[in-house]
Amino acid sequence: MNYFVNEKGYYGDFGGAYIPEMLYPNVEELRQNYLNIINDADFQKEFRALLKDYVGRPSPLYLAKRLSKKYNANIFLKREDLNHTGAHKINNTIGQILLAEKLGKKRIIAETGAGQHGVATATVCALRGLECVIYMGEVDIKRQAPNVARMKMLGATVISAVSGSKTLKDATNEAMRDWINNPVDTHYIIGSVVGPHPYPDMVAIFQSVISEETKKQLLEQTGSDQPDYVLACVGGGSNAMGMFYHFIEDEKVKLIAIEAAGKGVSSGFSAATTYLGKEGVLHGSRSILMQTADGQVVEPHSVSAGLDYPGIGPQHAHLFKTTRAEYVSITDEESLDAGLLLTKLEGIIPAIESAHALAHLEKMKFTGNENVVVCLSGRGDKDMETYMNHFGL
Ligand SMILES: *Cc1c(COP(=O)(O)O)cnc(C)c1O
Repeated sequence: MNYFVNEKGYYGDFGGAYIPEMLYPNVEELRQNYLNIINDADFQKEFRALLKDYVGRPSPLYLAKRLSKKYNANIFLKREDLNHTGAHKINNTIGQILLAEKLGKKRIIAETGAGQHGVATATVCALRGLECVIYMGEVDIKRQAPNVARMKMLGATVISAVSGSKTLKDATNEAMRDWINNPVDTHYIIGSVVGPHPYPDMVAIFQSVISEETKKQLLEQTGSDQPDYVLACVGGGSNAMGMFYHFIEDEKVKLIAIEAAGKGVSSGFSAATTYLGKEGVLHGSRSILMQTADGQVVEPHSVSAGLDYPGIGPQHAHLFKTTRAEYVSITDEESLDAGLLLTKLEGIIPAIESAHALAHLEKMKFTGNENVVVCLSGRGDKDMETYMNHFGL
C-alpha cells in the first residue's frame, strides 16, 4: 500500500489539482520545482538552522507523569506549543517562505480564519523582509482582534473579505483571485495539508520534522522508536500529518486522528468530516468534505477555530479510506474538560485544538505498558477567553 503522493498528485482516490485554468501556471511552477528546491543541501541547511535558532526546535518530547498515572500508560507530549508563535504552523511557513525566495517571489499572500496561520505567515515575512498580504473574512476580523493586531504590527496588510459568509472560505476565494492576478511575483502560502497538488505533500514534508524528532526522542527515552499509539487533532490535518509522517509505513504503530464533533456529530453544529462527509472537491483537491446532497459545502462548527473546517487534506482521506489511521471525534465540551485536566495535572494550558487529541485518551483502554505520543499542537493563550467563559474563571 502506498500512503504517499504518486506522480500524478494523488493519494489513492484523493488529491489532484482541481483549479481554474488561470491558476495553472502558478501551481505548475510549484509542482515542477518544489522537490528539487526542498531536497537541495543549501535549502535544508537554511531551513534546519531557522527551525533550530528561530523556532526553537527540536521541541521537547515530554513524558507527562501525572497524566500517565491517570490513564495507566506512558503518555508523551510532543511540545509544538513551545515553538515561536505558539504552534506547529511556523514549521510550514518557514519552509514555504524559503521556497518562495528560491522561486524569486517578492510578495506573499495567505488566507486565515482564526488568524493563527496569518500570524505565522506575517512573522516569516517580517523575518525575511517580504511584502505580506493576508485575506481574512470580515466576521473573523471582528472575532479575532488580537491576531489582526499582531499581523499589522508584523507589517502585514490585512484585507477584509466581504463576500458570502465573510469567513475562511471567502478569504480563500479572495486569496485565489489575488494569485491569479499576480502570477509572477507572488507566492501563496497555504496553511495546512489542503489545496491542489503539490501543497498537501509540500506542507506534510515541512511538518514531518515533528515525527522525525519524535522517533529520535522516543529511542533515547524508551529504547524503541516505535510507540504503540500516535494521536493528533485534525482541522485540515497538518499537525497530524507531521506527527504521523515517519510512522505511516510502520504498520505496528496505531495512528489516531481526532476531529471536532462540535456540539455532537448529529447536532448540525459539527466539524467531524470523516463521519459526516462524502467524497468531493474542496479548495483544489479531491477529498472528503461536509456537503449537502447537491454538493453545497456545509458550514462547520467547532469551539476551536483551528478545527472549524469542512474538509480534511487528501492524504487524510486516503489514510481514512484505507483504514491505516483511525478517525474519531471529540465534542466541544469534552475538549474543554481535557484542556482543564492537562492544566491541573501538568501545568500546561493547551490550545483547544490540541485538547481534542488529549480528550480521546479518556476513551482508550490501557494495560500500563503502552507508549502513547500525543501532538500538543499549540498553546492555549489564544483560547483564554473561551476557557474563562466556559469554566466561569
Ligand atoms: C491551526 C491549528 C490546528 C489545526 O490545523 P491542522 O492543519 O489540522 O494542524 C491545530 N492546532 C493548532 C494549535 C492550530 O493553530
